[in-house]
Amino acid sequence: MTVRAASPDVIADAAALLRAGKLVAFPTETVYGLGGDATNAQAVAHIYAAKGRPSFNPLIVHVAGPEWVAGLALPDGRFDKLTRKFWPGPLTLVMKRRPDTTAAELLSGGLDTIAVRAPDHPLARDLLLAVKRPLAAPSANPSGRLSPTTAAHVQESLGNKVDLILDGGACRIGLESTVLDITGDVATILRPGSLTAAEISAVIGPVAVSTHDPERPAAPGQMASHYAPGLPVRLGATTAHTGEALLGFGDTPGAVMNLSAAGDPVEAAANLFAMLRALDDPRRFEAIAVAPIPDAGIGAAINDRLRRAAAPRY
Ligand code: AMP
Ligand code: MG
Repeated sequence: MTVRAASPDVIADAAALLRAGKLVAFPTETVYGLGGDATNAQAVAHIYAAKGRPSFNPLIVHVAGPEWVAGLALPDGRFDKLTRKFWPGPLTLVMKRRPDTTAAELLSGGLDTIAVRAPDHPLARDLLLAVKRPLAAPSANPSGRLSPTTAAHVQESLGNKVDLILDGGACRIGLESTVLDITGDVATILRPGSLTAAEISAVIGPVAVSTHDPERPAAPGQMASHYAPGLPVRLGATTAHTGEALLGFGDTPGAVMNLSAAGDPVEAAANLFAMLRALDDPRRFEAIAVAPIPDAGIGAAINDRLRRAAAPRY
């Protein structure tokens, strides 16, 4: 891992790393982000692996401006009002994901929404313009630790997990962005942040504030909005029963699809949601059987999602 003070050359190197699927930590005006190419499922899986989070909490996609959102989400009139006033800046907007979005499905953590923001930091902006792709970038801290506001913080906690840390000094705001859900009739603050409810409602009218802690995944029964296949899911399967589609991991004879024939959990995470969706076809199968996946590393997050997909539905 290298920490490099930002300069045009360093930005060009960082952009090349990101386009090749590597991870680069970079400063924004809120906190340092752990960035990867949002259109590359493997890069997104590496972000989750580096964060060491036992579940796929959805990630914020960073863009250079509102015009980048057209390929990702289905915005409405509130999007134009809010972005004109607050972008670039510490406002993350949760919108319906475009069915043909260019972003990797994994970064939505199984939701049919996508969270997007344009950071107001010259380095973050220059980096996005050099990469020419949206960047998935959660705060660059291991799961459960404080968000980093200097390059040294990132180096201490994630130094061996990123390919490059761009040093742009201390973050101006140092507090995470406000996450606002504009998928429903009433806009709802999912995470309080540096932009206040009063500032937002001055632009779009009344906003609700969610009491649910977005950093804590809800119990399976509460996860109504989380994607679960329509077909029943059976875990720990080594062979398929009649009518089942076997989703393999490692050497799995009889598998219809394989999350990772090589048994690589990062590759498996990258394929997870897309393969579940592909097999969720009642015209072809009655159920989905999933091969066992070791619980180590990112495997824990994969198993968390699979248990939710397999949980009884009422
Ligand atoms: P961080 O990237 O570490 O600042 O955290 C991202 C925050 O955004 C978390 O609180 C997530 O739960 C939230 N978030 C990201 N995407 C979505 C989404 N599609 N729906 C709801 N919340 C989201
Ligand atoms: Mg965070």
